[in-house]
Amino acid sequence: MDILKLKEFLEKNNIKPTYQRLQILKLFETEKSHLTADEIYMKLALENPSLSKATIYNTLSIFTEHDLLNELVISKGESRYDIAKGFHGHFVCKKCKGIYDFDVELPDLEVKELEGFEITVKNLTYYGVCANCKAVQSVDGVNDM
Ligand SMILES: [Zn+2]
Ligand SMILES: [Zn+2]
Repeated sequence: MDILKLKEFLEKNNIKPTYQRLQILKLFETEKSHLTADEIYMKLALENPSLSKATIYNTLSIFTEHDLLNELVISKGESRYDIAKGFHGHFVCKKCKGIYDFDVELPDLEVKELEGFEITVKNLTYYGVCANCKAVQSVDGVNDM
């Protein structure tokens, strides 16, 4: 998407399209990965010297509230974000720390205990060792699992 389309997109979602917000949205459009606030800062700060971490946190929370981004808390105290593209699961490799998306149909579970609750986030995260790391392991003949 070019910057004009991104601008329209934000306006359509009732978000004021400030320059910094557009830069952050554009980064998610191009990277399509699961970024932390720090990573966003490192990628954008060079070209945007006036960008502060507070602005990034603020923008991330606005985008998350408007369902433009998904917030994932995968390791303790560290949120990662990816561009919302419907529900999908995440596989986290404990060797390379890679995060892999996978498509999954979430069954509409009726949870009796949560009647009357408003659910805002549903997460499905698998942990393990990815195929690449497993291949390396078996070549090395190492098995420290
Ligand atoms: Zn891996
Ligand atoms: Zn994802």
